[in-house]
Amino acid sequence: MRVFIGLGSNLADPAAQIEMAINALKSLPQSIFIARSSLYSSPPMGPEDQPDYINAVAELDTALTAHDLLDQLQAIEQQQGRLRQRHWGERTLDLDLLLYGEQIFDDKHLQVPHPGIPLRSFVLYPLAEIAPELIIPDMGDIEDLLRHCPRDGLHRIENSEL
Ligand code: ATP
Ligand code: CA
Ligand code: CA
Repeated sequence: MRVFIGLGSNLADPAAQIEMAINALKSLPQSIFIARSSLYSSPPMGPEDQPDYINAVAELDTALTAHDLLDQLQAIEQQQGRLRQRHWGERTLDLDLLLYGEQIFDDKHLQVPHPGIPLRSFVLYPLAEIAPELIIPDMGDIEDLLRHCPRDGLHRIENSEL
């Protein structure tokens, strides 16, 4: 299954957290790493008294079920010292399952496609960087979603800035 994962961090050297998480995604069982976006920086969503985020999106081909993949993503978050704090507050790592092929899940543990996709520039722009032709179930063409989503302070990080 072709899947996309959104990565975010705003604590403890966020760019290094994202690179570490990408390495962990490269080692997931029953999965092949396909692609990753550049790093992006974005102002925080929710509480404003927290550092900016670093974001990226990764693409895998996996034989894991969506729920098993979610468990693996949560294990990687825990390995990187994620603590449960305030809603949308700061964290060392957030891994969201954005898309699982064209499948739809809406249960207690898993909503896919992730409902934040059309509203969040820090998801849409990196996603479009690696999948510019994507069509998202119930949401439509990524090109159309991008047209309706202002960048909102999102900034693509050049390698020279790291
Ligand atoms: P948001 O989901 O709005 O980006 P968040 O990432 O801060 O918020 P978390 O605290 O990381 O939310 O996750 C809360 C719960 O969301 C998780 O325990 C998980 O079961 C559930 N969840 C539902 N759909 C997804 C998904 N597509 N990817 C990751 N977690 C999901
Ligand atoms: Ca999230
Ligand atoms: Ca999450």
